[in-house]
Amino acid sequence: MSEQRPRPTTTTDSGIPAASDEFSLTVGPQGPTVLHDHYVVQKVQHFNRERVPERVVHAKGSGAHGFFEVTNDVTPFTRAAPFGAVGKRTPMFARFSTVAGEQGYADTVRDPRGFALKFYTEDGNYDLVGNNTPVFFVRDASKFQDFIHSQKRLPDTGMRSNDMQWDFWTLSPESAHQVTILMSDRGTPRTYRHMNGYGSHTFSWMNAAGEKFWIKYHFKTVQGPENFTDAEAAAMTAEDPDFHRRDLRRAIDAGDAPEWRLEIQVMPFEDAASYRFNPFDVTKVWPHGDYPPIEVGRMVLDRNPENYFAEVEQAGFSPANLVPGIGLSPDKMLMGRIFSYHDTHLHRIGPNYEQLPINAPHSEVHSYNKDGAMTYRHAGNQPVYAPNSYGGPEADPQRAAEVGWSVEGAEIGRYANAHHAEDDDFGQAGTLYREVMSDTDRDHLAANIVGHASDEVSQSIQERVVAYWAAVDPELGARVASGLGISNGRERVPEHAAAVLAEHANRA
Ligand code: NDP
Repeated sequence: MSEQRPRPTTTTDSGIPAASDEFSLTVGPQGPTVLHDHYVVQKVQHFNRERVPERVVHAKGSGAHGFFEVTNDVTPFTRAAPFGAVGKRTPMFARFSTVAGEQGYADTVRDPRGFALKFYTEDGNYDLVGNNTPVFFVRDASKFQDFIHSQKRLPDTGMRSNDMQWDFWTLSPESAHQVTILMSDRGTPRTYRHMNGYGSHTFSWMNAAGEKFWIKYHFKTVQGPENFTDAEAAAMTAEDPDFHRRDLRRAIDAGDAPEWRLEIQVMPFEDAASYRFNPFDVTKVWPHGDYPPIEVGRMVLDRNPENYFAEVEQAGFSPANLVPGIGLSPDKMLMGRIFSYHDTHLHRIGPNYEQLPINAPHSEVHSYNKDGAMTYRHAGNQPVYAPNSYGGPEADPQRAAEVGWSVEGAEIGRYANAHHAEDDDFGQAGTLYREVMSDTDRDHLAANIVGHASDEVSQSIQERVVAYWAAVDPELGARVASGLGISNGRERVPEHAAAVLAEHANRA
């Protein structure tokens, strides 16, 4: 905010000069306030309507504008507009967020971080709505609401509950990989600038010749990954609850534009059926040894929003916003998200939220959707139905280039997994613990788990916590058991958890 610019006259929202910024219209100096002081009445009414519903998840966020620049030719894999010729730049907006907390929550709490990107391409908006983790807690959208409820607040006390979180996680073993990352120091990133972003799901790409590929996205922070320890994060929560927001804002204001390098992994379309695990399972990564990363370009965030509400709060991202050359995959979490995001923005912002400047594509819109609350953009006398004989827009399947896949001999049903040889829940979490983490990472992980599971978690659930981590890695399980004071855990491990352990031991 600047004190220097010439001060305009205050007006009503209809543009009429206001008589006073401070004094209501009253009957004499001690008299009652009159109702026909429409300016003050308007202030009161509008104030009462200032908030739109808070996002159910990712409520507290920060955003910035920037661009994506192609640095490597990936046109052999996709015809998608933002990944065209080397040197091509596409304007972008990015929003980072915590997940479970509300709008006023502290930035530095242990939580995954949202990493939502909007590319304003000449073929419409491309949204890649990811996280700072390459995997997710559950692999089926039917469990998402339950998962989020477990991260939010208890129905009676209105407080968050570690007991509820561990109850859900230990009864949902597919969460182990993501919870390993969450409980490591990556669960408390130092800043938004110092974390990676991932598309997490598998997507499909199609090139100009119609050849299809399965794709994973990785945005690697050029600043380098840096995290807080649990103690540092807790201290910052007390010192500055808006620390991540402030850091991003200040860095960009100071000309220190943060940058991420986009790398992709490419799987030939036909590999998916015979790969050793289901490549569309969002609880798993594709090991780099199998599908090495290929550089695509860089994302730079170099402009702060001028208005938080208009640009960050009203920003609406949707994984359904794909542009020609990019498609979905049979990932069940992704399928659920395709419906969910647009739906929540219709509720939260309104049926015409895509007309707001932050959400409006920079390309032309020729849609047959019309009217509704707060509509602004209209199509004049364009016919309101298709097909029509009066020159209205016509769909172009060639230009849309939808990416599909075939499902042969499949029966409608409810399936727990896809029956690949290695569709297990604990393997990749164990690999992360044993082969990727440093000794310090492992020490911090064990201490963070013990600290978190010691905080008002019942003993029966602590016993399951031990079994869960023993299934990830027996040595980690022993460290957690000892930290929680549950001997080695085995004799007190309940039946469900013992079965999990036995299954893991058989596989090993
Ligand atoms: P690699 O050794 O090739 O890659 C390991 C990856 O782990 C790197 O991308 C690194 O990314 C990341 N990483 C390093 N430390 C941590 C940490 N404390 N928490 C989370 N990620 C970390 O191994 P593989 O590809 O064979 O995968 C082995 C394991 O690494 C997987 O089971 C998975 O848990 C983890 N991982 C794998 C990723 C993948 O896409 N293959 C992505 C991220 C993690 P960075 O540049 O950030 O250090």
